[in-house]
Amino acid sequence: MTTPTYQRTLPLLDDSNRFFWTSGAEGELRLMRCQECGHWLHPPGPLCPVCRSERLAAEAVSGLGSIETYTLNMRSWGPGLEVPYVVAIVHLDEQPGLRLTTNIVGIPASDVRIGMRVRVTFERDEDVWLPLFTPA
Ligand SMILES: [Zn+2]
Repeated sequence: MTTPTYQRTLPLLDDSNRFFWTSGAEGELRLMRCQECGHWLHPPGPLCPVCRSERLAAEAVSGLGSIETYTLNMRSWGPGLEVPYVVAIVHLDEQPGLRLTTNIVGIPASDVRIGMRVRVTFERDEDVWLPLFTPA
């Protein structure tokens, strides 16, 4: 008998989100950025909320940030899902208000703290590279 591995519900890839979910293949985290004013958008949208430009393109961020807030999930939602795990909002260094909802991995859940410096890491699941964060 083998231990069941938790099967995530993966995002459906399309032309509007593929850059985000596959950039981990090159070890980079890419977000949409306005090519006129430099504003980063996450989640992506059809135009820049600052200057209204439609000239947007995916660019790599540093992958560095800090934990703005987090919660410990204590419930196993399916076979193989180990608890507790950390769901966090990570504030990226690039811009005030640029946040990602993600998991913190690589340390015991009880060691996670608000303000902790983190860097992106990727977990591949089929065609998707999930951007997760680990202590920097
Ligand atoms: Zn703009």
